[in-house]
Amino acid sequence: MDNKISDLLTTQRSFFKEGKTQEVALRIEKLKLLRSVIEVREKEICDALYKDFKKPVFESVLSETGFIISELEYVIKRLKDWSKPEKISSSWTNFPSSDYIYSEPYGTCLIIAPWNYPFQLAISPIMGAIAAGNTVVLKPSELAPHTSQILADILEKVFDPAMLAVIQGGIPISEELLKEKWDYVFFTGSVPVGRIVAKAIAPHLTPSTLELGGKNPCIIHSSAKVELAAKRIVWGKFLNAGQTCIAPDYILIDKSIKSNFIDAVKKEITAAYGTNPEHSKDYARIINSKNFDRLSNMLLGEHCVAGGDLNAADLFISPSIIDEPSLESKIMEDEIFGPLLPVISYSNETDIYPVISNYAKPLALYVFSEENSFSEKIIKNYSFGGGAINDVVVQVVNKKMPFGGVGNSGKGAYHGKFTFDTFSHKKSITKRGTWLDVPLRYAPYTGKLGLISKLIKKF
Ligand code: NAD
Repeated sequence: MDNKISDLLTTQRSFFKEGKTQEVALRIEKLKLLRSVIEVREKEICDALYKDFKKPVFESVLSETGFIISELEYVIKRLKDWSKPEKISSSWTNFPSSDYIYSEPYGTCLIIAPWNYPFQLAISPIMGAIAAGNTVVLKPSELAPHTSQILADILEKVFDPAMLAVIQGGIPISEELLKEKWDYVFFTGSVPVGRIVAKAIAPHLTPSTLELGGKNPCIIHSSAKVELAAKRIVWGKFLNAGQTCIAPDYILIDKSIKSNFIDAVKKEITAAYGTNPEHSKDYARIINSKNFDRLSNMLLGEHCVAGGDLNAADLFISPSIIDEPSLESKIMEDEIFGPLLPVISYSNETDIYPVISNYAKPLALYVFSEENSFSEKIIKNYSFGGGAINDVVVQVVNKKMPFGGVGNSGKGAYHGKFTFDTFSHKKSITKRGTWLDVPLRYAPYTGKLGLISKLIKKF
């Protein structure tokens, strides 16, 4: 495999050097072809996602194929404009000049994807990397093998391997890929593996984006509309069976409304998935037995007030609500990444800080409140990737907003134009006029200090 990887890199490097990816028309043509192949094979993609973890078709269209087709459309429409040098107002001190920011592709990029939104989280960075004029090697997740295979089939149809290639495999392949010198690495996955990736690429100082995870708080204030909060939280938490990096991890709720909230959540779970969610066609499964065991262990000794039903043979865990786990419990130790929702109450607003600050900066934070001052205070007091007021997960939908973490939850951001920018080096170019040459800056400096001192501080 070693040779195969380095041969592929050599091929991609020469394709890049020949300037083929500089042609914006080629990038647009490829993205259009990608869009139409995805449209034609949408059902096959949904079938693959179903085979991997019984992902409901509705959720696959919403969060994988539909999401991607819409983003491709957005990028294709704007790419010509984005690729042009951006004219910036010039500095008076450089008169006469005009200033520009050129978007320069990095070169050959490695994209490592996770299993939880295996289609979206592979294609979304790819579209930005290609749009920006890079070549790409994608390593999809071995834990979603059917989706990984259809990704490979589709991408092989659309791209010459010199421009984009897929290498399937698990950790050993990923390790081999990370031994190479890349021009950019885009990784989506867990915090521990994010650290491994950061360490592996450090010797080459490779620029990178790390899209990681975290323990996302969801704060519910006494003024919140409890029924609506319950409905929205049940949707966002149990979508993809809780295996969503920005799903609310745990609830922090004012004590006075906790029991109403739990009743409302139970009602919403039944409304969404019926009395036995195992029979619901709208509820996904846990990706594998390792994660099933990890999640089942979190339930041991906890007070489950809803759900708590397990079927190892079917990798099924019902939507579950855990009442008041201790902060030292297994479920509150780390990111849950499954359909278990701890509910912790607070008596005073001052009780919120010690809970949230127990964990590293999360990828998302949510607050439900009808009091704007409370929501604003929470948003300003805590550092986190992004979030929402009075809803969960929906912040990803707006292509004009960057998506990414901070601190432990990651570095860099993407979506919409941010993906194009992520995969572009921004090169500042000042074009000087030659019809005038103001002599002020040149030595000898005698007699010029007073004027330069005034001018430089003003402009
Ligand atoms: P993971 O970190 O286990 O795996 C991600 C990728 O890294 C896979 O392709 C895998 O093959 C590879 N990998 C795993 N171990 C490796 C190693 N030791 N060396 C090199 N490569 C390795 O993550 P996962 O289980 O696929 O996904 C779940 C995690 O990803 C959660 O923590 C979740 O929060 C996070 N996530 C983050 C985002 C985001 O956008 N920020 C999106 C989805 C998932």
